[in-house]
Amino acid sequence: MASTPNTHSNIRLGIDLGGTKIEIIALDHNGQQRFRKRTPTPKHLDANSQYQLIINAIQTLIEDSEKELGQIDSPLGIGIPGAISLKTGKIKNANTTCLIGRDFKLDLQQQLKRDIYLENDANCFALSEAIDGAGQGASNVFSVILGTGVGGGIVINGQLLIGTNAISGEWGHNPLPWSTEQDLPQQACYCGKKGCIETYLSGPGFNKQNQLQFDLQLSSHQVMAQTQSQPKALQAYDLYVERLAKSLAGVINILDPNVIVLGGGLSNVDSLYLDVPKRWGEYVFSDEVNTRLVKNIFGDSSGVRGAAYLARSI
Ligand SMILES: [Zn+2]
Repeated sequence: MASTPNTHSNIRLGIDLGGTKIEIIALDHNGQQRFRKRTPTPKHLDANSQYQLIINAIQTLIEDSEKELGQIDSPLGIGIPGAISLKTGKIKNANTTCLIGRDFKLDLQQQLKRDIYLENDANCFALSEAIDGAGQGASNVFSVILGTGVGGGIVINGQLLIGTNAISGEWGHNPLPWSTEQDLPQQACYCGKKGCIETYLSGPGFNKQNQLQFDLQLSSHQVMAQTQSQPKALQAYDLYVERLAKSLAGVINILDPNVIVLGGGLSNVDSLYLDVPKRWGEYVFSDEVNTRLVKNIFGDSSGVRGAAYLARSI
C-alpha cells in the first residue's frame, strides 16, 4: 500500500526519464534547486530486466536526494517520453520500448511505497514554463515542442489540462491547416495519416521537406544557419515560418492563449519569434492578435523541473 506523500513538505522531487539518462531534481517551495543528479538509463537486452533496472535506478536517485536533504516521502513527479493510456494506465508510444504495455505508475508505487505523479515529457515542459518559466504570470499557456516530434501541452491557471482522452495539446497529428499546392505531396506520418503538422514542423519533417522541395541536403540546423547566404535555405525557412504560423493560428482560434512557449531544437531559431507572429494574423479569426510567442527559459531542464511541479499541480 502506497503511503500518502507529504504534501506539506518543502521539497518536491522530479524525475525525467529519458532514453539515455535519468535525472532527478529537488525543488524547494520557491522553485529553487536543492539537489540534482543524473545517471545513465540502464540498458539490458532483456526487456524485463531493463525495466526492473530502470525502477531500481529511480529508487537509488530518490534515496540519494532524500539522504542528502534529510527529508523522506517528498511528493514525487515523473516525466516519461511516452503517453499513458487513461483506460488501462499502461504506457504507449514510448521510445524506451521496455516501458510499453507496462503499468509503470503502479509498479513504481509498489516499489517506492508512495504515490507518484506520472506525465509525458511534453506536459512536464508545459508545466515548468507556465509556472516559473517563459509563461509565468499568464493564465492560459500553450507550450510547443518542435523537436524529433511535435508535441504540446496546455496549462490553465497553473494547472495542467489533461483532458478526457489525455491528449490535450496534441496538435502535431492534426493536418496542416490552410495548406496549398506548395505543401504537396503530403508525407506519410508514423501515426498512419498523411500531411500531419509533425511531418512539416518537426526536425526530421523539416529535413524531409527541404530535400523534396529544395533539394537541400543539409540538417535543419544548417538550413537555419544559412538563410543569409543561401537563397534556397531562405526559401525553406520562409516556408517553415508560414507553416508554423498557420498551425499556431489554428491553436489560437480554439484555445486563445496569452502566451505560446516554444521548446525543442527548432525553438533556438531566434528569428521565429519575430517572423511567425507577423504571419499568423492572416489566419487568426480576430482583427488583432495579442498572443505572445516566446522562447522557453529552462531549456533541457524544463522536463525535470516540470516533473517536480506535477505534485503541486494535479
Ligand atoms: Zn501523424
